[in-house]
Amino acid sequence: MGSAALRDAIKDVTRWPMRATVQEMAPSQASKLFGSLTFNDEVQRSRLPKDVYRALRRTITQGEPLDPSVADTIATAMKDWAVERGATHFTHWFLPMTGITAEKHDSFLQPGVDGRAVAEFSGRELTMGEPDASSFPSGGMRSTFEARGYTAWDPTSPPWLLTNHNGATLVIPTAFVSWTGEALDKKTPLLRSMEALSKQAVRVLRLFGSKASRVYTTCGPEQEYFLIDRNFYFARPDLINAGRTLFGARPPKGQEMEDQYFGSIPDRVLACMMEVEAELYKCGVPVKTRHNEVAPSQYEVAPIFENANVATDHQMMTMEALKRVAPKYGLACLLHEKPFAGVNGSGKHLNWSMSDDLGNNLLDPGDTPHQNVQFLVFCAAMLRAVNRFQGLLRAAVARAGNDHRLGANEAPPAIMSVFLGDQLTDLFAQIERGAVKETKQGGILDTGVSVLPKLLRHAGDRNRTSPFAFTGNKFEFRAVSSNQSIAFPNIALNVAVTEALDYVVTELETAKKKGQKHETAVRALLRKLVKDNKRIVFNGNGYSEEWVKDAAHRGLLNFTNTVEALPQLLEPEVVEAFERYKVLNGRELRARYEVKLETYNKTINMEAQMMVLMANRYILPAAFQYQTQVAQSVAAVKAAGAQSKESRRALDELTGLIDAFRTRTQKLVRALDNHDGSAEQHARHFRQVVVPAMEALRDAGDRLETIVPHGMWPLPTYREMLFIK
Ligand code: ADP
Ligand code: MG
Repeated sequence: MGSAALRDAIKDVTRWPMRATVQEMAPSQASKLFGSLTFNDEVQRSRLPKDVYRALRRTITQGEPLDPSVADTIATAMKDWAVERGATHFTHWFLPMTGITAEKHDSFLQPGVDGRAVAEFSGRELTMGEPDASSFPSGGMRSTFEARGYTAWDPTSPPWLLTNHNGATLVIPTAFVSWTGEALDKKTPLLRSMEALSKQAVRVLRLFGSKASRVYTTCGPEQEYFLIDRNFYFARPDLINAGRTLFGARPPKGQEMEDQYFGSIPDRVLACMMEVEAELYKCGVPVKTRHNEVAPSQYEVAPIFENANVATDHQMMTMEALKRVAPKYGLACLLHEKPFAGVNGSGKHLNWSMSDDLGNNLLDPGDTPHQNVQFLVFCAAMLRAVNRFQGLLRAAVARAGNDHRLGANEAPPAIMSVFLGDQLTDLFAQIERGAVKETKQGGILDTGVSVLPKLLRHAGDRNRTSPFAFTGNKFEFRAVSSNQSIAFPNIALNVAVTEALDYVVTELETAKKKGQKHETAVRALLRKLVKDNKRIVFNGNGYSEEWVKDAAHRGLLNFTNTVEALPQLLEPEVVEAFERYKVLNGRELRARYEVKLETYNKTINMEAQMMVLMANRYILPAAFQYQTQVAQSVAAVKAAGAQSKESRRALDELTGLIDAFRTRTQKLVRALDNHDGSAEQHARHFRQVVVPAMEALRDAGDRLETIVPHGMWPLPTYREMLFIK
């Protein structure tokens, strides 16, 4: 970046530690704050008539349809509560297929008879809205002339108040469906998939004598993100428009010193995190942990796990809060999967489990998993789910940004596999051999220092290289990416597990009909599940070359990019499962595929256009300027009667590089001039022609960056963006 501008930017950065006021949330304050801006259970109980409250609770906890006659009462209570807290507007908030959130605000105010305005909110306004749906993608399900779309109140996710200095808005989580009842959003299929899973899981539980009547999927997503100074952000057109740097040479110091992970958090960043947390806390989002991540300027925030539907809404709120609060501290939050080449990208580990309505975590092995047959059955069903639906799970995390992570030796490989750890692997080996007799224990970990407590060792170590790892009492789907909604990965998992549980019960019921003893049938089924699906279990190093070969031998799928992965959504057994469990019909599923493909095409197109713009209007002018300087220097040396082979050589090298840079720019421009064909053909063209052309151009641009004088370079460098804070 030009030196004067850079000097100003850095001066501004250095002022920040004084400006940021760190207000640690005292624990007493935190508990008071938590949920203070949500229309939660406590508020509902205190403000609703008893019978209405009970009806609403039954809907929330048992999934019973809500009696429409109580909607008016709930709406009025909600409005009064909101207006008392400064709300003037309400909005139906929904999750269109784009992956972001949508909201349209309406005022509570209605003209009264005497010319004054009164705040009104009817049951109908609460339960149903009709945004103009034509500008939301429908993936070909609907043409613009039949644009009707409806939002429907989701009573299971608590409304909250979106506040700022000028007022408050009541935000009501809703589902978004078309005039024909087809799902246009992510919440509708998520709720359907949770119901489907519950039904099958309860069938399994019954066979084990459980009295549970519902099963919830629970999830806790860990969000990784970058925070960099806003001065640098605004000087990077690529960050503003594409969310990632399209040019940028690696700095001499990257993350190789490994001095960042869990390091102390800079004051300004900590202050920002605390404000984000306080805001989320008030809205009932139970954020819990924060720390530095592996890359410089990279951080993580994670909540306490919740019911997957609420967790999905809360996760969107978390991303929005990070984006919204960062500027107050002079920071920009980057949620992109790979904002900086050469340093770690960001993921969103999706911790996932199932819980019954009696409070039992179905994936908790207990102390003696070998005796916990019910756990073994659920766990073995997970193996079937991931093995059988590896393609679906891979497609669920496919997007342009994640192509930079998966398989790129920092994030999980693009091959789906399950990490079980020593203890479970050993148990499943025993099952395969015949019967389970014992559980390998972790034992006591002795540090050799008498004052330190003896630590109970976990029976299994961790494995950071696995895309799907068992971590004690839950699975962690690690291939999910930082910038995506967790809704579809959740849906995909739910469908896969639903199918596996259905298979399990059906097998056991058939055996029962044949008169087989429950224990014998379970043992036989477990063995079969392990045998059929053991190829998906991999405890080794997922980053290694050998694994790629081994996985190919095992017949596991390996799609290294979005274009190859997405068609998995249309595989017959995937479509069949979505339809059978009524999560998405064929048309609805195809719509997801089309929207994802379209998004991929738009992303690459936009990035490539931006590269051309930056090449022509930022980098090339700077390079020409330097070229002139060197040429003048060569001429001056010659005029003075001296000889310098090296300055001549410097000029030739620079000229060669500038020529290459320009040729590659032109090549990218030509590659973008491709308008015919289907979305699939476009996608393949982008992947096979445009992406390599972008890489080639970047390579030349990054080499120029290392020789053009710093004062002439028009963009902030990695060194500045990542290390000046
Ligand atoms: P780490 O993965 O670093 O060990 P934690 O053990 O704190 O971190 O867990 C990570 C996330 O997993 C947290 O958001 C936590 O709430 C979530 N989690 C824990 N138990 C469950 C569960 N039963 N179902 C879903 N998520 C869970
Ligand atoms: Mg984790």
